[in-house]
Amino acid sequence: MAVYPVSGKKIVVFGLARSGLAAVAWLIEQGAHPIAVDSDVSKQKQALALGAQVFSFDQLFWMDIAAVIQSPGIPLSHPLSQQALHQGIPVLSDCELFRQANPEAFIVGVTGTNGKSTTTVLIGHILKQAGYPVAIGGNIGIPVLSLPPLDEGGIYVLELSSYQLELSNSLNMNIVAWLNISEDHLERHGSMDQYVQAKYKIFQHVKQAPKAVIGIDDVYSHEIYEKHRAVSSHITIPVSCKKKLEEGVWVHDHHLYDSDQSQQQMISDLARYTQLQGLHNYQNIAVAYGVCMQLGLTTAKILEGISTFPGLEHRQEWVTEIDGVIFINDSKATNAEATSKALSVYTSVYWIAGGVPKSDGIHPLKTYFPQICEAFLFGQAETEFATTLEGVVPYSLCQTLDVAVERAYKAVKKSVGGKGVILFSPACASFDQFQDFEHRGRTFKHLVYQLKGLHLS
Ligand code: ADP
Repeated sequence: MAVYPVSGKKIVVFGLARSGLAAVAWLIEQGAHPIAVDSDVSKQKQALALGAQVFSFDQLFWMDIAAVIQSPGIPLSHPLSQQALHQGIPVLSDCELFRQANPEAFIVGVTGTNGKSTTTVLIGHILKQAGYPVAIGGNIGIPVLSLPPLDEGGIYVLELSSYQLELSNSLNMNIVAWLNISEDHLERHGSMDQYVQAKYKIFQHVKQAPKAVIGIDDVYSHEIYEKHRAVSSHITIPVSCKKKLEEGVWVHDHHLYDSDQSQQQMISDLARYTQLQGLHNYQNIAVAYGVCMQLGLTTAKILEGISTFPGLEHRQEWVTEIDGVIFINDSKATNAEATSKALSVYTSVYWIAGGVPKSDGIHPLKTYFPQICEAFLFGQAETEFATTLEGVVPYSLCQTLDVAVERAYKAVKKSVGGKGVILFSPACASFDQFQDFEHRGRTFKHLVYQLKGLHLS
């Protein structure tokens, strides 16, 4: 259902987070009449200031509404969305509107349960380094409707969550980068099948089946690969970090390979990219490589981009080294599953963890305990985590992050050789002592730089 052009149309913007406010601004610029709906009064004020009309949910009068642009944070089962759908009014994501307004734009869509942001930014970085006009946006926190127009040959790289895909019907991606799928967001999607269906929409309702690079290491993604390969006239590139592929991109023993019927080529030793370590990051690199190959970049250009990639803030971010002690900021790890990815990368770790624990605590990390030299615990979780570590991993109760950083550094310096990795991967939510994981990560880095000042001056 085409909503664009929007000029003169009344469009409800439901949910005024970053993307909702960007949609309001864009609609006004386009000559539309946005009607903003959100229960948060400060958000309502911002929408008013931009020139929107503001209504509460029960004041909404449905006459003449052309569409609802809904925040991906709100489920489609919400009564407002349901009322709209019953009246035949389309309920769409901002990404859908962006595509309708830019039918000729070249778009790479990145999706998957994990690794979307890293892969989106990595692809964007490689392309920028290779000289393409590039804009990245979507679920990564940069609303698509705030992205600039691009010069000739420009490429949009969009991170797409299952929520955005659920609200999109004709995204017509030029290339799809599909990483993986595992159980997530089931409370919202209802079942694994529905979650996979929402994600699969990235391939559906298209003029032409898109080119695709698909991670096939889990059963759901493997099925998607088979399904897409059967309908697409393009070559669909499979990616695996678990097995050798006769045709496709794969990783073995930290080396990246590209195979086709005639040859198998070793592309690069991935161990050299310190900002992208761990098998999960190898998957992200392999998918990004596949996408850039589809775009016609040379291997040399792609590797140049990977090697200059600075990494993403708060995701196993290499902060600095002080006299043989390396500091890693993985503040984004708000649960044990995410921390397991970081612990899998290092062998002798001085681990800083704590905050508000999740229901399974750090039990899922037991297989990694032998790699931990000592744990430095803080926040609400410290006694619970200490109980789990008791008798297996030495630990120190630090209460606050500043104490944890200082003690961890002293412990490494006292160890044989005085070298090691201090990994800040909290496995907890942050809100007992910080505003959010970004604030927590920045605080950690600040403490590390302070320490550096003390020890290098
Ligand atoms: P997303 O945008 O999908 O949430 P990110 O790129 O922000 O993913 O990474 C978040 C965390 O997920 C990382 O800190 C890491 O622990 C984990 N991760 C990253 N890439 C992958 C992957 N390919 N497979 C599994 N886990 C991953």
